[in-house]
Amino acid sequence: MPVTSPGGTILQDPTDAQKKAFEENEPDFRRLDEEMHRVRDTARARLTDSGWSGPDAGDHIPCLSCSCPDFQPEGPLGRCRRFSCRHSMIDHDLPR
Ligand SMILES: [Zn+2]
Ligand SMILES: [Zn+2]
Repeated sequence: MPVTSPGGTILQDPTDAQKKAFEENEPDFRRLDEEMHRVRDTARARLTDSGWSGPDAGDHIPCLSCSCPDFQPEGPLGRCRRFSCRHSMIDHDLPR
């Protein structure tokens, strides 16, 4: 039976085959996560090697694809609002 959550979204009860599909999806996203961390680590190391120090660590989320010092979100999954940047959220050095 479908259950309606407070937001009005219907929570479906997956079948066994659908559960299996979810179970197979999940580790793929963990791999994507790791891959993103790896790419960011490499990007960060490259910038350090070049002598780029970026803004002070702390609340800043600097871009790793340009000199943008802090991510300015535009919408929940949007790009950086900064004119000189416009890079996606994943280009920025998000906290782990
Ligand atoms: Zn930016
Ligand atoms: Zn940028």
